[in-house]
Amino acid sequence: MALSEFTLINQYFNKQVDAAFPAILGIGDDCALVDVPSNMQLAVSTDTLVETVHFLSNSAPYLLGHKSLAVNLSDLSAMGAKPAWVSLALTLPKADDSWVKEFSKGFLSLAQSHSMQLIGGDTTQGPLSISVTVMGLLPKGKALKRSGTNVGDDVYVSGTIGSAGLGLIKAQQTATDALDEDLKQYLKPTPNIDLGEQLLPLASACIDVSDGLAADLTHILNASGVAARVFHKNLPMTEGVKEHIDELQDALWPYSTGDDYQLCFTLPKALTKNKTIVELTANKSITKIGSIEVGDGLIVVLPDGSEKAIDKGFQHFNSSVSETSHDK
Ligand code: ADP
Ligand code: MG
Repeated sequence: MALSEFTLINQYFNKQVDAAFPAILGIGDDCALVDVPSNMQLAVSTDTLVETVHFLSNSAPYLLGHKSLAVNLSDLSAMGAKPAWVSLALTLPKADDSWVKEFSKGFLSLAQSHSMQLIGGDTTQGPLSISVTVMGLLPKGKALKRSGTNVGDDVYVSGTIGSAGLGLIKAQQTATDALDEDLKQYLKPTPNIDLGEQLLPLASACIDVSDGLAADLTHILNASGVAARVFHKNLPMTEGVKEHIDELQDALWPYSTGDDYQLCFTLPKALTKNKTIVELTANKSITKIGSIEVGDGLIVVLPDGSEKAIDKGFQHFNSSVSETSHDK
């Protein structure tokens, strides 16, 4: 799309923002130039969204702009990083002015709300695909990694689990109720940037839940060489998800659905009474769901007291790959 490429970029993406860390050189040259403060480390992550794999065809461009940045911000939040810069590689079937206008609004309004600067990218023609690279800043050596949890630590999640999975089902049924909390969670996730920064000095390990709680918590367990026991009665769920699992008669459904973009993290027991943790727990931003034990793998304790070991042999996780799973 050589003819309109520069017009599109200049008109919709080359906007001045109130950046927390203004680039030395932004959009317009062969590379952007940024300075990393000497006491900081750069955290870099890329996520690509492909039509029909990660989002439904005919998705609203504003929401897609928001979501393509939100899922990347979620990775920064999981490391406790402060958002700084972002690069956007956009592949479009055609130069659709109104589509790009709406997409850029959704993308840039979320970037602006985190004082993040769009410093470059690429615009090409082809099947619709959106690849975003985010860059964040961390105090040197302090990142929240997947390794680092210890036996006796507590396991927490933010928000609710399974809600976006139910939202996807509703979106597939072409539901459009803007007030439906599950649909909203799927279409317009809110990254937990503030929470990640609050957890930075506290958590022993952290991950963002994009591929399902069971799969992502297991990443922490494997990286740290431990097991976890999670109590299903403690799992925070929306009323919609509670009803859905009652209908399915499958309490484990929310552990395998993707797109939650919540944080799952572990805290040393001694921090249970930490002021920040007490406040976040009181306002239900975070919920303690279990604890770390010796061994390997994840055990879910069901309300009747029975225990389910979640491992690769468990059918539920072999058969239920969500349409928007990030592992594809
Ligand atoms: P080059 O040919 O040197 O790779 P391009 O013509 O692709 O440069 O891009 C020109 C400028 O516009 C570069 O600074 C690039 O980073 C920026 N750019 C291209 N596409 C986008 C986009 N979708 N969003 C933001 N910046 C973009
Ligand atoms: Mg280029």
